[in-house]
Amino acid sequence: MKIGILSRNPRLYSTKRLVEAAEERGHEAQVVDVLKCFMNITSNRPTVHSKVQGKVRQLEFEAVIPRIGASVTAYGTAVLRQFEVGGVYSVNESIAITRSRDKLRAHQLLARKGVGMPITSYAHSVEATDELIESVGGAPLIVKVIESTHGNGVVLAETNKAAESLINAFRSLNADFLVQEFIKEAGGSDIRCFVVGEKVIAAMQRSAKEGEFRSNLHRGGSAQVIKLKPEERALAVRAAKVMGLDVAGVDLIRSAHGPLVIEVNSSPGLEGIEKATGKDVAGAIIQFIEKDALKGPNKPKGR
Ligand code: ADP
Ligand code: GLU
Repeated sequence: MKIGILSRNPRLYSTKRLVEAAEERGHEAQVVDVLKCFMNITSNRPTVHSKVQGKVRQLEFEAVIPRIGASVTAYGTAVLRQFEVGGVYSVNESIAITRSRDKLRAHQLLARKGVGMPITSYAHSVEATDELIESVGGAPLIVKVIESTHGNGVVLAETNKAAESLINAFRSLNADFLVQEFIKEAGGSDIRCFVVGEKVIAAMQRSAKEGEFRSNLHRGGSAQVIKLKPEERALAVRAAKVMGLDVAGVDLIRSAHGPLVIEVNSSPGLEGIEKATGKDVAGAIIQFIEKDALKGPNKPKGR
């Protein structure tokens, strides 16, 4: 197969591994920077073009793997959609990526489909601060900026007073944020489940360093292999399925009332999980594409 890997940076671990895994299995792989692509959107034969080795060419693939970063979601998913309407198979549809990137929409969907999450409320410039705090059961609670990555906009408020000042400060930022029940029992750990198709193919537990409740590896957290309970496996697969994602990084935390989903990522990184588990995650993605692409271009998944 000719496989296009839609990634801004060919030197990223994940991108390199996908190219390697595709080639190992006898495919041709090409990394495409979506921001360098252009397309005639009114053509009735939708195509995507880009300059390759000094020449403008039409990009012809049988399958594409979107690795679209959060900062280029809008244009990146537009390019992906152009491939899709042109009949190219995509592992992770554009609509599913858009859905998961919009955290409010994602949470609403997951909740509607009965996927367990910590009790969460959304707000923007709220005046009913006390009621907002009360709505998630009071402190300790977590306040998260919606656009956060690597745990940057995630703050723990241990008392109602602290929560109130935090929320008042957020009001002036003019940003969407959420308040969430703090799952103390998680003990600064979360579990990344790497879902491909309808299986969790690898999982790792990430533990926060001393004095920190956020387990992001970017914040000095460490990763270990973990054996999942069947209910955790089922929850991760269900969350990916509700989002309509073929490939997803589902983050869970263990609470006293069972596993809870905190996030579903549409471009989960390969480095942490492959290094922690020793599994060939890139190979599993390519294998999945080999089978799934045979069924033809994407059928709409998720809702
Ligand atoms: P980001 O998307 O910025 O990484 P997350 O929502 O994943 O933000 O939160 C970062 C980390 O904080 C998580 O990996 C987890 O360890 C911890 N965390 C997040 N939400 C909760 C919660 N409700 N209770 C306890 N810990 C949490
Ligand atoms: N690569 C990031 C992760 O696995 C997330 C990318 C995304 O926003 O989908 O945590």
